[in-house]
Amino acid sequence: MRRNRIIRAFAFVAGAMLLSAPAWPEGDGTRVVLLGTGTPLPDPVRQGPALAIVVNDSSYLVDCGTGCVRQMAKAVQDLGISALQYTQIAGVFFTHLHSDHTLGYPDLMLTLWDIQNQPLPVYGPEGIIEMTDAILQAYEADITVRTEGFQQSDPTTLRPKVTVIGEGEIFSDDNVMVTAFRVPHGTCCPVSYGFKFVTSDRTIVISGDPSKSEEVAKQARRADVLIHEVYSAKKYESASDTFRQYLRSFHTSATELAEVANKAKPGMLILTHQLGTDECDTRGLADEVRKAGYRGKISNGNDLDVFWVFTEHRPRRASASSRRAE
Ligand SMILES: [Zn+2]
Ligand SMILES: [Zn+2]
Repeated sequence: MRRNRIIRAFAFVAGAMLLSAPAWPEGDGTRVVLLGTGTPLPDPVRQGPALAIVVNDSSYLVDCGTGCVRQMAKAVQDLGISALQYTQIAGVFFTHLHSDHTLGYPDLMLTLWDIQNQPLPVYGPEGIIEMTDAILQAYEADITVRTEGFQQSDPTTLRPKVTVIGEGEIFSDDNVMVTAFRVPHGTCCPVSYGFKFVTSDRTIVISGDPSKSEEVAKQARRADVLIHEVYSAKKYESASDTFRQYLRSFHTSATELAEVANKAKPGMLILTHQLGTDECDTRGLADEVRKAGYRGKISNGNDLDVFWVFTEHRPRRASASSRRAE
């Protein structure tokens, strides 16, 4: 049974690694890999919200939207980031439990099952245990077939090791210390967090999905990078009253983000969870933030962009695109 499992795991990982081509830039240091920079909209070029902080040989996932698992495989295969192999995940951290941030969670849990030799460590707000149990229950028939049939999957590694988080330090190991802080996000879920990752060489702050937040500005003060969600202020102008109310209480406009980022003064501002003027058109967002008075370094994040020492690194595949760091 064990041999079968090892072969399956090897075939899977080897498949993902087979074409790993471009050399990962040499040198040590913390890297940020954007796995998905979209919103709930089914944007064909942006997967659901997810990113990875990569330190040494370990990766730390923040949220797991649609496509998260396939994007990790792509990062291993196309970008040569071996720390994004499934066995190297040291923790999965959910900012909140909105569906766009968690749709990849069942995929992550069930896809990893045969590859991991220990349960996946998951950290999330109140409700994460119930969500995990409900997913396992939803797939009960499949799980029975896989554990009791010829596949002989190991039931002891299936259920993630789930920790419910609150404010303050939620995780630390040799690579990172992770702090959670509450952010306003309408009536969500019921709690929503942002995260600060401190490594030996970098401080990275991730906003989650807040409306304009003084707390984000405070946490990101002098951070190396602030990764922040944003919606177009132009879109707001043309929205209905109800949608305006929703945007104001749940999210941060480009104008508001300029204010937050001017207070925080991060080394670099990376836009994610981007809601542009016209459905999936997000090209003008960085300009909107600049026109609103932000003078710092800014980048429109795109799926599978990699940031390293916080000058942008666009690998060969992505550098064919004409977009540059903005
Ligand atoms: Zn949300
Ligand atoms: Zn969201």
